[in-house]
Amino acid sequence: GRTIGIVGGGQLGRMSAMAAARLGYRVHILNTAATSPAIEVAASATIGSYDDPDTLKAFAEKCDVVTFEFENVSAEGLALLEHYRPVRPSGAILQVSQDRILEKTRLAKAGVALAPWLVINGPEDLEKLPDFGFPVILKTTRFGYDGKGQFRVANAEELSELADLPYPLVAEKKIDFARELSVMVARGLDGQVRCFDTVENRHRDGILDITLAPAPIEPALAYEAQNMATKIAEELALVGLMGVEMFHAFDGTLLVNEIAPRPHNSGHWTMNACLVDQFEMHIRAVTGLPLPPATRHSDAIMHNLIGPDDMARVPSILAAEGAALHLYGKNDARVGRKMGHVNTIFPKGALPGELALSSILPK
Ligand code: ATP
Ligand code: MG
Ligand code: MG
Repeated sequence: GRTIGIVGGGQLGRMSAMAAARLGYRVHILNTAATSPAIEVAASATIGSYDDPDTLKAFAEKCDVVTFEFENVSAEGLALLEHYRPVRPSGAILQVSQDRILEKTRLAKAGVALAPWLVINGPEDLEKLPDFGFPVILKTTRFGYDGKGQFRVANAEELSELADLPYPLVAEKKIDFARELSVMVARGLDGQVRCFDTVENRHRDGILDITLAPAPIEPALAYEAQNMATKIAEELALVGLMGVEMFHAFDGTLLVNEIAPRPHNSGHWTMNACLVDQFEMHIRAVTGLPLPPATRHSDAIMHNLIGPDDMARVPSILAAEGAALHLYGKNDARVGRKMGHVNTIFPKGALPGELALSSILPK
């Protein structure tokens, strides 16, 4: 069969569907709303709840293999999908990524370094924080994204002012980092692992703003980051694609922040800087096709287009040289909403330095 089912209808599903179409596959979307970025480019869709057994059955029966762009399907929903069809990445990996406690436990098992962390089950556990050490970041264990569900606590005084926290939480030492890095890693049915180049990510208001590909770091560090991503992919027996977010701490250590077992915003640069991009790599991995080396032919800066202000820049982006525009087909450009992205491409080795960056990114 040649129909790929994608759970979720957002832009990651849209770009996955476009890559699938290029390889001759049909895509069938599962989404709660009848219109969405992915549905617009897919062959067909099932509309309904991600946790309704009848919806999941109807969806699965229309597909040959199932994958995700939306991670928060219940354990019961995942079990049902896996009962009907192969699910890649597996429901087990999705469950790991859904729960920060499980995630950190498995990452530690994979042998990668993490920021020091502590489980906070209720108010009484907050008393452990002074010994643990400030500053800390408290994070909800589930459903966090774009930094939502985080509480930064600088000292005991700020701790005493906290009330009504959504337990359970994970407390993490706030890391003094030089840079945030990420690696997109793919692993095939045959165990073949491919890593895209290590990139640097910069955030604004908790949302990814730009990605620099490659990260302007020493080759040994870039390689270490890929090595860590590979270890995690192998520990989790990944089949598919996964983003691994890391901190490069000022003391030189690389710490893994979190994983996302799906295409990832920090991999969008691959669409114009690699012959086979993250979406095609993802589709190849979940359909059992060979995975080619994740070769990068150009340097790139990916710039997210967020909300109405960035959308107002679209006409000038369209007129610019070397800038590839990707829009997600969303109608209302609400503040904070990811509307599209731009990849600005440079010859390999020509990614501009810090000074020139500001002139390319007029913000
Ligand atoms: P998303 O899934 O959209 O990437 P999220 O809500 O799951 O976001 P994290 O990625 O854990 O949240 O954190 C968001 C950002 O907050 C990180 O990219 C980083 O900039 C900062 N941050 C998170 N944890 C730490 C930490 N321990 N020390 C310093 N900064 C941190
Ligand atoms: Mg996250
Ligand atoms: Mg993150």
